[in-house]
Amino acid sequence: MESQLDQTNQFLVATPVKILNGESSEHGRAEKSLAASEIRFRRLFESAKDGILILDAVTGQITEVNPFLRELLGYSEREMLGKKLWEIGLFEDHERSIIAYQELQTKGYVRYEDLPLKTKDGQRKEVEFVSNVYDVNGQRVIQCNIRDITDRKCVEKALAQTNESLKQTVKELAERNQEIGLLSEMGDSLQSCVSVDEAYRVAGRFSSQLFSGTQGVLYTLEPSRNVLEVAIAWGGPLPGEQEFALNDCVALRRGRVHVVNGEDVASRLICQHLGSSVSNYLCAPMIAYGEIQGVLHLRCAEGDIGATGKSSILLEKSKLGLAGTIADYIGLALANLKLREALREQSIHDPVTSLHNRRYMKEALERELRRALRDQQPLGILMMDIDHFKKLNDSFGHEAGDAVLKALGNFLKTQFRGNDIPCRYGGEEFLIILPGIPLGECQKRAEKLREEVKRLDVQHDGKSLPRISFSMGVSAFPEHGDMLDDLLKVADNALYSAKAAGRDRVVVGPAISHSPIEAVRIENLN
Ligand code: GH3
Ligand code: MG
Ligand code: MG
Repeated sequence: MESQLDQTNQFLVATPVKILNGESSEHGRAEKSLAASEIRFRRLFESAKDGILILDAVTGQITEVNPFLRELLGYSEREMLGKKLWEIGLFEDHERSIIAYQELQTKGYVRYEDLPLKTKDGQRKEVEFVSNVYDVNGQRVIQCNIRDITDRKCVEKALAQTNESLKQTVKELAERNQEIGLLSEMGDSLQSCVSVDEAYRVAGRFSSQLFSGTQGVLYTLEPSRNVLEVAIAWGGPLPGEQEFALNDCVALRRGRVHVVNGEDVASRLICQHLGSSVSNYLCAPMIAYGEIQGVLHLRCAEGDIGATGKSSILLEKSKLGLAGTIADYIGLALANLKLREALREQSIHDPVTSLHNRRYMKEALERELRRALRDQQPLGILMMDIDHFKKLNDSFGHEAGDAVLKALGNFLKTQFRGNDIPCRYGGEEFLIILPGIPLGECQKRAEKLREEVKRLDVQHDGKSLPRISFSMGVSAFPEHGDMLDDLLKVADNALYSAKAAGRDRVVVGPAISHSPIEAVRIENLN
């Protein structure tokens, strides 16, 4: 301790004072006070909880190092004394140390808060480093105070990371919030759709918003052919096939969302319905009431892959979940709409002939007459009844009669297309609505039909049934008025007249202005 005191005095004592014999007692007091100050400083130096280094400013060599720093860095005093800072590997960055040393020489003071030190056993220590240059007896000395702030830096780093993850969480929450808002909006919109086509458009619009930066296709199952076909596509040119078999989609085979990332493309199963350039996509099956409705396909928009990082958007767990949820929503909405459409179809069709039934006929007549009045276009009505159908039933049985009705239904469908609406409105009675067809043309068509039906060959129990004929009454707007009841009454009367005149014939009702009741036989016209 003594020798250390002596050794340090030459650097640390501001001005060594030589005491002469016989000088005043004032000098003696000064000497004592100086000695006490030196002892206090030395104690501070030895017990400080910060590292202290004293360097020779000229040579840059370490002349003093306090116990705290020695312990912090794991070097012995001998290893440090006489060395320059960067020679003992004190600083990790030698070049930076030299620059700092030069800066200190010119400024006389430096302070660093982010200086990394390395301990003898290779640990990294973050320190706050303050250096001053000052004079001791005309000799320039550098004092470095070194505070270990590793713990503080760790806390700061952890805090920064927490802040970062907090920001990320807030951002994700905001995104989830927006997604939930859009999802509920999509649910509402889907519920208010009245047709599947409308639902496709809603699904496309919301999917493109929920998965921005992606291209998408909604494929629906066409049950009669068991293939999936494009219902709607968005975000760019259609990727892959227009239609494909169920087995060509991995998601449909597995019944769950299938995702392929660009990087693991080689190790993943790729859906066969996609083009060869596929590297990053997702397919989500749409299944409702245990039945496949279709598949939602999403892929990164052209140009996004790899460049903006958006390519990985589909791989985020939340997005996968979202895709699955959306597919479920859309699937359920489509299933309900199809069910509703199927029920509606059933309610307006006759099961034997599959023609429109009486209920639909009434709706269609009212709608078409309104349109005809508005557009001032003609509207024709053919009313027909199979001749002696009871006899056919009685001779060959009810099933044979049904076979004839079924064949007649198909026959009428082939004869009338476009806007024409053939309906079965009673047992063996049919009515055909002909929008835009004038009376004269209706008459011609009726005659042609009367001729054609005689050629209809209906097989039952391996035998041909007798050919059928029918009688027809014709009416039309404007010749027979602009009231539905009048038009139907004229056609009915005309049909009655055709029956009364011997059947197998066409009768056009007389124009209302002439005689609304009396029907006119028009056979052999043309
Ligand atoms: P007309 O030439 O005067 O029309 O004689 P018709 O025998 O065709 O007329 P009628 O009104 O006497 O008999 C109609 C028959 O149509 C009676 C009924 O058995 C039969 N019929 C009605 N609906 C069906 C059906 O859905 N299936 C079968 N097989 N027969 C039906
Ligand atoms: Mg009949
Ligand atoms: Mg009848």
